[in-house]
Amino acid sequence: MGDLNTFSTDGLVLKLRHTGESDRIVTVLTRDHGVLSAFAKGARRPKSRLNSGTQSFCFADFTFKTGRDDAMNITDAAVKEVFFDLNQDLVKLSLAQYFAQLAQELIPPEDAGDEPLRLLLNALYFLSKEKRPADLIKTVVELRLAGCAGYTPDFGGCAGCGVVGEQFMILDCREGVIFCPDCGRNVRGVRLSAAAIGIMRRISEGDLAAAFSVSAPAEHLREISAAAERYILTQTERGYSALDFLKSVKI
Ligand SMILES: [Zn+2]
Repeated sequence: MGDLNTFSTDGLVLKLRHTGESDRIVTVLTRDHGVLSAFAKGARRPKSRLNSGTQSFCFADFTFKTGRDDAMNITDAAVKEVFFDLNQDLVKLSLAQYFAQLAQELIPPEDAGDEPLRLLLNALYFLSKEKRPADLIKTVVELRLAGCAGYTPDFGGCAGCGVVGEQFMILDCREGVIFCPDCGRNVRGVRLSAAAIGIMRRISEGDLAAAFSVSAPAEHLREISAAAERYILTQTERGYSALDFLKSVKI
């Protein structure tokens, strides 16, 4: 059975802090245990076996051990993948940091399943290799993380009268529902074209691979990205420093 205080899981490093002379505090999005923070003792020493596996956006096999003082330590970190390309582009890097901040805010501590990790790994891969438009990746992360936290918006039809197929609808970011122009007359929300509603619905529902493969014409990318962002900011009632930074570097 091994030591009950020790377990292994793969995970993605979301955040680092320096502590002590050569230690790190590492926040990891794990496959089986949600988001965990743990000490990586001596990890900043160049020759430490924890050095490379505890860097930003490193995907690694981690071994965690709970000490006598209940503090969690990382005792092993075997690198599986490093998203090097992110560090060469300020826009990509700040988007990745925004995804990391959202994950820390939204992912429940336990029983989130492995979708959050698969979501972030796919997003970082597509972002670093430029395999998908950045606005699509961002929208997928925002809507699917909202789903992992239990508040997928209902894009199924007007929440007032049930009508579908209107030319445009209003997304009520607080309630997570859409309204037709009539029912939404007094709703302060985001006006979305029928095409944008359809794209956002396909991203939110169905499996993750399908969400990243949704076909979204360029003219709708900004529309869905702005709407998903407003939705997530409204739902979490906070701002994100990486998103603010992204806006300052992206003209
Ligand atoms: Zn209506």
